[in-house]
Amino acid sequence: MTSPGESVKHRSREVKILALMVLLAVLALHVAGFAQARQDVDLIISGATVVTMNGQRDIVKDGVVVIKGDSIVAVGPRDKIESRYKGAQVIDARGRLVLPGFINGHTHVPMTLFRGLHDDVTLNDWLYKYIFPAEKKNVTEEFVRWGTRLAAAEQIRAGVTTFADMYYFEDAVAEETKTAGMRGVLGETFIDFPAPDNKSEAEMLAYSEKFLKKWQGDALIHAAVAPHSIYTCSKKTIQDAAALARKYQAPILMHVSEMKKEWEDSEKQNGMSPVQYLESIGTLAPDLVAAHCIFVDEADRKLLAERQVGCVHNPSSNMMIASGVSPVPEMRAAGIAVGLGTDGPAGSNNDLDLMEEMDLAAKLAKITKMNPLALGAKAVVEMATIDGARALHMEKEIGSLEAGKKADVILLSLDEPNAVPMYDIYAQIAYSLKGSDVETVVIGGRVVMRDRKLLTIDEPRVLEKAREYGKSVSASLGME
Ligand SMILES: [Zn+2]
Repeated sequence: MTSPGESVKHRSREVKILALMVLLAVLALHVAGFAQARQDVDLIISGATVVTMNGQRDIVKDGVVVIKGDSIVAVGPRDKIESRYKGAQVIDARGRLVLPGFINGHTHVPMTLFRGLHDDVTLNDWLYKYIFPAEKKNVTEEFVRWGTRLAAAEQIRAGVTTFADMYYFEDAVAEETKTAGMRGVLGETFIDFPAPDNKSEAEMLAYSEKFLKKWQGDALIHAAVAPHSIYTCSKKTIQDAAALARKYQAPILMHVSEMKKEWEDSEKQNGMSPVQYLESIGTLAPDLVAAHCIFVDEADRKLLAERQVGCVHNPSSNMMIASGVSPVPEMRAAGIAVGLGTDGPAGSNNDLDLMEEMDLAAKLAKITKMNPLALGAKAVVEMATIDGARALHMEKEIGSLEAGKKADVILLSLDEPNAVPMYDIYAQIAYSLKGSDVETVVIGGRVVMRDRKLLTIDEPRVLEKAREYGKSVSASLGME
């Protein structure tokens, strides 16, 4: 038995122990709280189905993408990740699909202003009767600026965040691309006749060197060199252009084996295919981005894979001018990085919608092989994203949603009639969704389109100018 005095003493000791425990618990919570202090970030995209295109091709339902500065800091399930971050801006993306921005691996953006100038003619007629005269009479630096603004508006609307371009006045293309907040691999064209900007190879070299120097180290613009093709450039022009590119570690953009005639002429003149010819003059290397690659046999494909050349398939263009069919399944099987491009956007495809190219790439391969398994939905989504990045040799920077990569992210609405129901996400992206389903676009952490409103481009003004150019181009060619 204990005396009442002892019991009181006992109770007071219990109270003290309890108080100490409460104090410890409060302290522990406080320490834990500190450990979990939320990191300040710039943007959180929250609640979407995130199609990462990472190595495992993870798809995260109810996921988040966390962005700080121009890069992604985290991607994953919302319940595990979101509480660790405090976003200055949060986009509620519930019910949306989130993907890495699409990569248009080959185009000529200022040609938007020649869109639909003259179609349904042979490539030869289109070039010599219409486009070369039209370029001679109309292409100025100002023309290129407005054409690039129009193309930027069109591409952002369709979810394209990076594009590779070959044209003239490429420095003006670069300035307008940067102003629009887009990422570009932009090559000044080398061609063996006087171009609208540079009239000789010496001028082309001088212009390009200045251009390469100016954009060194830029976050969005990768200045490149673009010898047009083996059928418009001499061996010397190609080698000089490549040497200049290599001096500045810049990519080389080129049309490669895009026409039957090009292949036949190369066999006749060089005794070898265009790909083998480029190997013989030292051009095939991991810095080359080869557009088209239609006439590439097994030996060519082996060489392209060994030299780690990036290839870009342009199904609309190849069909529209009846060039032929690139052996995409065989190229992928050989280990070549094959991206997707719109080409054009005049004469060989009249728009810049890469989602259309995904759909057509799959269907063109299927009908050509008479085999519905030839190229599937997942493969073409890869070509528009991570493989497009590999083709441009930029896979460390872009092409998938992963921590450390640039924050190029697009949100697609799933609320249109063409988007429901959804059984297979890749099939939905490749065959059902359209460029117009893209709702919000982020490039390098900057929101450039929000809820279908362009934030970096004065769209009404650009459309008005494009219509004005339509009239002046028609007048310059004596058209009605
Ligand atoms: Zn082209």
